[in-house]
Amino acid sequence: MPDLRAQIVEWIDGDRDVFLDFLGDFVRAKSPNPPGDTREAAALIERFLTERDLPFEVIAPNPDMPNFVGNFKGSRPGPHVVFNGHIDVFPLGDAGTWTQDPWGGEVVDGRMYGRGVNDMKAGTTTVLFAFMYLHRLREHLPGQVTMTAVSDEETFGPDGARYLVANHPEVHGDVCLSTEPTGIHSVRFAEKGPLWLKFNIRTPGAHGAYPHKSANANEIGARLILALGALRDIPVESPEAIQRALSGAEEVIDKVASPGAAAILQKVTLNIGTVNGGVKQNMLPGTCVVTADIRVPMGISPDAVIARAGEIAAEFPQAEMEVVGRQEPLWSDPDHPMCRLLQKNVEELAGFRPPAIVSLPGTDARLWRGLGVPAYVYGITPFNVAMADEYVDIEEVFHVTKAHTLSAFDYLMAGGNG
Ligand SMILES: [Zn+2]
Repeated sequence: MPDLRAQIVEWIDGDRDVFLDFLGDFVRAKSPNPPGDTREAAALIERFLTERDLPFEVIAPNPDMPNFVGNFKGSRPGPHVVFNGHIDVFPLGDAGTWTQDPWGGEVVDGRMYGRGVNDMKAGTTTVLFAFMYLHRLREHLPGQVTMTAVSDEETFGPDGARYLVANHPEVHGDVCLSTEPTGIHSVRFAEKGPLWLKFNIRTPGAHGAYPHKSANANEIGARLILALGALRDIPVESPEAIQRALSGAEEVIDKVASPGAAAILQKVTLNIGTVNGGVKQNMLPGTCVVTADIRVPMGISPDAVIARAGEIAAEFPQAEMEVVGRQEPLWSDPDHPMCRLLQKNVEELAGFRPPAIVSLPGTDARLWRGLGVPAYVYGITPFNVAMADEYVDIEEVFHVTKAHTLSAFDYLMAGGNG
């Protein structure tokens, strides 16, 4: 049998210009979400898949936000690998602060610039090319491969991956690979669970010169905010597999997620996102609304955090607590064969072994984890994501494409062991 792994690498090296031409066009096909109309960018994916005779269908519960699902089976039964990427991008924000055309897809000094090129049109292009290469090898492969490219990720909306996972069980698979930009120096196997709380504080209120007539809702809000700080001290017992995966990875975590990140990874974090109180300087405020964004680590249930927050709020009889949103912290086995294959292939390609770590921000990978399907994220460094001059390092893009294609190939060939 020919060396198919070497063949994959050769194809990727040979297709650099085709890849970059597609990515440039993909960036120029604006798809900011909100508003979320991705049809122009989706048309390019449709053309890519059609021209190459790749099997796919378009699933669009919202016609402005089409999703793509491609699938093929190998020559014999085996495991099922699913790739996930998204088509929508962050809104542009202030174009005036860019030094490059934000919708230009221009290549300068080994970088390509543009809104969404990094998060995650490069990663989604990787998904398309990986799908194409594996499809070419289908006669040799056991199992099956599915690619998903969705249109409603940036707002965690209902019409993208969430819709597919809920309504199309054929996208579940045995393992999911995401190319979200998380940095080439780590593999992500877990995400904390976001928990959003809102506190409504009500007092009678009064004229500002009669503060003896009513408690001050803003002052109560201030004391409540300080008291909520105790949530950060809730003890967390990290599952053994998480402890093992993270021990010794502190340096990498601080490097990829900014200094200090390792210290909070397995802690409850609290961000008081908004405080809105009072009407006018000389009126004693009768209402104050405080919102909190809490991230719950692996090993503790959001219920325990909600209960503690409820105890704290109960010390302030004028405050009423509301749970606005909650998700469980979700993690996949850091010792799963796919995780180890990604680490092994990155080590062979780039000379360093990326530790498996917990992700601070959320990705669609959580939807597969929520089903019990192991999901791993490996992607390019998120240069200037959601900021001016978003760009990709082109060498990283091809490195990530090789790492994913080879890992999926190895996993299938090993029958899911690896
Ligand atoms: Zn993304």
